[in-house]
Amino acid sequence: MIVMKFGGSSVADASRIQHVAGIVKTQLSRKPVLVLSAMGDTTDHLLEAADIALKNGKTEIKKIEKLHLDTVKALKLSAVQKEIAGILDELTRLLSGIALIKELTPRTKDYLVSFGERLSVRIAAAHLKSIGMNSRAFDAFDLGFVSNSNYTQAELLKESWDVIPQKILPQIKGNVIPVVTGFIAKDEKGSITTLGRGGSDLSATMIAAACKADEVQVWKDVDGILTADPRIVKNARPVGHVTYDEAAELAYFGAQVLHPRAMQPCMKTGTPVLVKNSYNIDAPGTRIGPALDQQRSPGTAKKMQPPVRAITSKHKVTLVDIASTRMLGQYGFLSEVFSIFAKHNISIDMVATSEVSVSLTLDTAYDLAEVKKELNKVASVEVKTGKAIVSVIGNVKRSSEILARAFRICQLIGVTVQMISQGASKVNISFIVNDTEAAEVVRALHMDFFDTQSVSGTQEKK
Ligand code: ASP
Ligand code: MG
Repeated sequence: MIVMKFGGSSVADASRIQHVAGIVKTQLSRKPVLVLSAMGDTTDHLLEAADIALKNGKTEIKKIEKLHLDTVKALKLSAVQKEIAGILDELTRLLSGIALIKELTPRTKDYLVSFGERLSVRIAAAHLKSIGMNSRAFDAFDLGFVSNSNYTQAELLKESWDVIPQKILPQIKGNVIPVVTGFIAKDEKGSITTLGRGGSDLSATMIAAACKADEVQVWKDVDGILTADPRIVKNARPVGHVTYDEAAELAYFGAQVLHPRAMQPCMKTGTPVLVKNSYNIDAPGTRIGPALDQQRSPGTAKKMQPPVRAITSKHKVTLVDIASTRMLGQYGFLSEVFSIFAKHNISIDMVATSEVSVSLTLDTAYDLAEVKKELNKVASVEVKTGKAIVSVIGNVKRSSEILARAFRICQLIGVTVQMISQGASKVNISFIVNDTEAAEVVRALHMDFFDTQSVSGTQEKK
């Protein structure tokens, strides 16, 4: 059995869905389970519709309705026409409710965005069926996806590990191709929850790990995980292999290829994850699996492997420098600082400390007024906005080399590194620069690590 996940752009319209069907057809002997996102930008359109309902008291679903009804028509899916129309009616009623009470709780928001995936799986399953495949649409919550009630960022409960295979394996045995909603689950009270934006990846890896699938294929619109953001670095290229840790770090630090938590289930079971391009089927893609050293085929020259797997940047970052105003050696300072941030639900990305001071980074979106007030009781605080995190994900055994080369490059292009940290997972070296300089830094690092590899390869042999 394998799991095949297709993101929004891979199922964006009728012709994309036909294309997906073609890809699925090539894998039938491997007993696929499909996991789908909402069609195109439907999730964003649902959130926009809620905004309009809240602000103008109007229910406006024209874009969503048109996309789904046009697709049903183009694919001649009269069998699901009624069901789709019924779901769109339910959506209109929900939006009227939101418009009326002028309130959108996190729970209602999750119910609202669930419509995207509920619509897409029904349409895709009907299409597969219409061309002769034995497919059936499922809502993930009917297949064992049980989560906590942390709406918009829910976490799956342990019992999902047992119930998912109990529900899915009999379908596979019965030669059904399940087409399952990504992104959504239900809590124990029976309310719909979501696993965070981009959460369909996690739905797919969870099914694969729980059912002990041979592989998860994550079909995207890029040739796999790239060495850098192609919008910044023109000759960014796909990485053949990364470890689960590296993939997770890449996701956290700005490579929008996979959901940050998606690696967790497969890491537990060792299930390989393959990132493929649905627009370019023949490209080999990126394989995510256990540590590279264990996988390297004999005879591969270790020296020639670049020490760096990929370079990412995360923008709109705020740097906070906090220096204790108490005497040197005062204990409890760090825990006090962190508990203040935790109390205000502010998530910290990077940290660097000395005995009496700590620098940390946060998303610029947070309002820090209250935090600053509280921190000022024990420390002096300086908030600097307009920063970016540049992360170099790579082989930790060569971290000295990576650091030396990275800093030499920054010095050469005249960029000051304002803070540095080596991630606990030991595959990530991150540093802070001004946001305006980040793209240039990424380009220069990419050139040094990936385009002058032969030069450094020679140096290493000496
Ligand atoms: N449709 C959801 C989103 O756009 C989930 C996903 O695509 O994975 O975030
Ligand atoms: Mg999406």
